[in-house]
Amino acid sequence: MSEAQLNLLYLLAAALFIFGLKGLTHPRTAVRGNVIGACGMLIAVVVTLVDQGLLRAELIFLGLVLGAVIGMLLALRIRMTAMPQLVGLFNGFGGAASVLVAGAVFITAVQAIAGAAGGGSDGAAVEVAMQESIATAASGLIGAVTFFGSLVAFAKLQGLVSEAPLRYRGEQLVKIVLLGASLAAAVMIVRSPVDTEIYWALVAVAGLLGILLVMPIGGADMPIVIALLNSYSGLAAAATGFVLSNTVLIVAGSLVGASGIILTQIMCKAMNRSLPNVLFGGVGAVIETAEQDDVYAGKVKQTSAEEVAMLLKTSRRVAFVPGYGMAVARAQTAVRMLTEALEHDGVTVEFGIHPVAGRMPGHMNVLLAEERISYDKLREMDAINPAFPQTDVVIVLGANDVVNPRARESSGNPIAGMPILNVDQARTVVVIKRSLSPGFAGIANPLFAADNTLMLFGDGKKAMESLVEAYKEA
Ligand code: NDP
Repeated sequence: MSEAQLNLLYLLAAALFIFGLKGLTHPRTAVRGNVIGACGMLIAVVVTLVDQGLLRAELIFLGLVLGAVIGMLLALRIRMTAMPQLVGLFNGFGGAASVLVAGAVFITAVQAIAGAAGGGSDGAAVEVAMQESIATAASGLIGAVTFFGSLVAFAKLQGLVSEAPLRYRGEQLVKIVLLGASLAAAVMIVRSPVDTEIYWALVAVAGLLGILLVMPIGGADMPIVIALLNSYSGLAAAATGFVLSNTVLIVAGSLVGASGIILTQIMCKAMNRSLPNVLFGGVGAVIETAEQDDVYAGKVKQTSAEEVAMLLKTSRRVAFVPGYGMAVARAQTAVRMLTEALEHDGVTVEFGIHPVAGRMPGHMNVLLAEERISYDKLREMDAINPAFPQTDVVIVLGANDVVNPRARESSGNPIAGMPILNVDQARTVVVIKRSLSPGFAGIANPLFAADNTLMLFGDGKKAMESLVEAYKEA
């Protein structure tokens, strides 16, 4: 294959990645976007194998079958609520691949230089090695932080280690020292690329840094960390692209790096938190219990499925606001059933989707899409907020922080300033959850004690199923 043909095919793959990403920006085009991106990746992989003289049809076929089977098994077996840790693990593997590939190329280059020096050194060869070594150092450092950081993120979300932030005295100093040591090792690799051991020392120190960076972050903040590590894995891949002089890897890595950081920013903005607050704030460590009695004492009104069903029977406009609890309870099927029953009676049904409802971006959209609930009914925060005063009943299903009026305070609590769904402006609010326990932010919610709020206590799925039954019988 000529250089021109190779670059043309790489350009095609890069264009498919970009169109794929564009498709992923809307639920309606997401599946197509995914397929387009996968086609780009297939072209990139096959072209690289051909270029490297590794074209053996049976090997490529075997790889495709193996990859497809593993991918399908994972996709079918993993629960939606476990998706963040799966993505975290994939990021980690990306980081590890960068570390290993860049390391292997570096070792080969160092051996070649040693050979050349034995037979009379060549300045150009040393210079090429220096360019490579800059990319190698970046790849090793970022890749190791990504791999080990992702393993900790996975372990926290999977419950293998405590979700609580691990804080200790001198924590920031330890991290600064480790970062300094990693940078010193990187400089040594760049200045005298003759010693391969320093590369593995860099990987070890950066790996420890990755672990210590993620340990002090609370489990519920892990999706943001995973988005950030996704960005890092892209940067590591781009650096490896420079090591290999492989343009498609540079382009793909840069796209992952950029989209990961954009996603991180969107999530931080939706929570009105800064990235340093997520990374170093240790949010999730404290749960306020004393103040809960003040907020709720004597003011909470409990209701029953039958009473809510009667309310719904006299409603013209109903909105669901789903949250993390809907995902945990897997209550979306019952939500769809109630939606169908309400629409059958001529009731307008909408869904208010907060950008950080649940535990990962798009969490609620995916669960509702699984039930084939039309995207047209899903309203973003800014679109649905003006409609709440005209809504007869809002059913808040397993959501807490994203509807907590305390977010309207300017400071003094973890969600202060976060934009919320103004469900308290609806005529009646029905909150379905198991208890008065707080959500991720660990603070009481005055919505549960509001005059127009009724609490339907119970597991989200069971409560919704009894509501469907009661509505059909009413
Ligand atoms: P919250 O975490 O605020 O609240 C979820 C509620 O669900 C809990 O109060 C819990 O109450 C209830 N619940 C749990 N299990 C069940 C069940 N089986 N049946 C019924 N209810 C249940 O969730 P929100 O979605 O409102 O808010 C998301 C929070 O997560 C925000 O603070 C956001 O900043 C944060 N976050 C979101 C990310 C994202 O990307 N989406 C990323 C990182 C953080 P009870 O125990 O009483 O049932």
